[in-house]
Amino acid sequence: MSEYLGKDTFKLGFGLMRLPKNPDGTIDIPQVCQMTDRFIAAGGTYFDTAYVYDDGASEAAFKAAVADRYPRDAYTLATKLNAWLQAHDEQSAKQQFFTSLERTGAGYFDYYLLHALQRNNYDKYDEYHIWDFVKEQKAKGLIKHLGFSFHADPELLEELLDKHPEMEFVQLQINYADWDNPGVAARRNLEICRAHGKPVTVMETIKGGILADPIPEVKAVFDATGIDRSYSAWALRFVASQDYIITALSGMSNLAQMEDNLKTMKDFAPMTEDELAVIRKAQAVLDADQSIPCTGCRYCTEGCPMSIPIPDIFTVANRRKGSPHFRTVREYNIVTQGKGKASDCVQCGQCEGACPQHLPIISLLEKARGMES
Ligand code: SF4
Ligand code: SF4
Repeated sequence: MSEYLGKDTFKLGFGLMRLPKNPDGTIDIPQVCQMTDRFIAAGGTYFDTAYVYDDGASEAAFKAAVADRYPRDAYTLATKLNAWLQAHDEQSAKQQFFTSLERTGAGYFDYYLLHALQRNNYDKYDEYHIWDFVKEQKAKGLIKHLGFSFHADPELLEELLDKHPEMEFVQLQINYADWDNPGVAARRNLEICRAHGKPVTVMETIKGGILADPIPEVKAVFDATGIDRSYSAWALRFVASQDYIITALSGMSNLAQMEDNLKTMKDFAPMTEDELAVIRKAQAVLDADQSIPCTGCRYCTEGCPMSIPIPDIFTVANRRKGSPHFRTVREYNIVTQGKGKASDCVQCGQCEGACPQHLPIISLLEKARGMES
């Protein structure tokens, strides 16, 4: 395992999935440069992007903020090939690798992943011969370490690790809210990776931002400790305290989040038993909660024939639940303006097949119809 840790001894990874945006929707490159400078100055090295993030703008932002401004040995880069989201045949899937090389300007990838394997899509990586393709790129020196990111059940993880021993690491969704969530199986999947000798990079450490601003009942659990620490810091410390972790990724969206995470990881020590007891209390509260656990990844929206802004509708539904004074209809109309509404859903099922959280989107949208004026 130590070989993979390499120079990434600092356990916070800079996830580039939710980068700060300008009012026109483009990525705020000057702010990303500032965040990068703070990250690297504090000892950070690991950057995580993907071909599909922001339709390529994330990889381009990496080039502008990191590759064009730092020597190659100052950072490690992970990116991902997605055979099911923006690929329609073998050639277009493989082309993603070369496009990513060009977009990032990194010359090679320290970590290269097959992206978001789930029960209903992993066969695409077989069909397009991607497993062999990435091995070939590694043999050419264009990839240092091969892995895959995974959003499915422990049985499939076992099967894939048995079938593909060449995979050196796995990226898993791990956070305290999903630790024993049967739909995510964070704890069990981590145990399987350990048993197979595969170190883990962690995604959704803060569950798409949900754990940075959790429900009031969870906040009360943390507030009662009297410890001066952000809610994100509790989440990040929980993940970084697990062993067999290469890095805990945080998809940071502004400089303030970067500063908070750096503060959390400065002089990091694993959680104490008392702190873990607080986490267990928060987990118990979450188990009783009925909020929709959407992480806002937007994998569901790309193929929706009715252009329904699914995660935005779920955000409104969750906010309504948290506050009796929330102006639900007004907020619902804002997020759906010029787009499809929940009642426009034709139940084609495309979104449910793409959702890494395995949410019953169709039935959740049926309930969301109640927010329409
Ligand atoms: S099931 Fe409904 S929300 Fe999902 S992709 Fe189809 S139309 Fe869109
Ligand atoms: S519904 Fe699922 S796929 Fe869509 S944004 Fe939420 S978590 Fe992602």
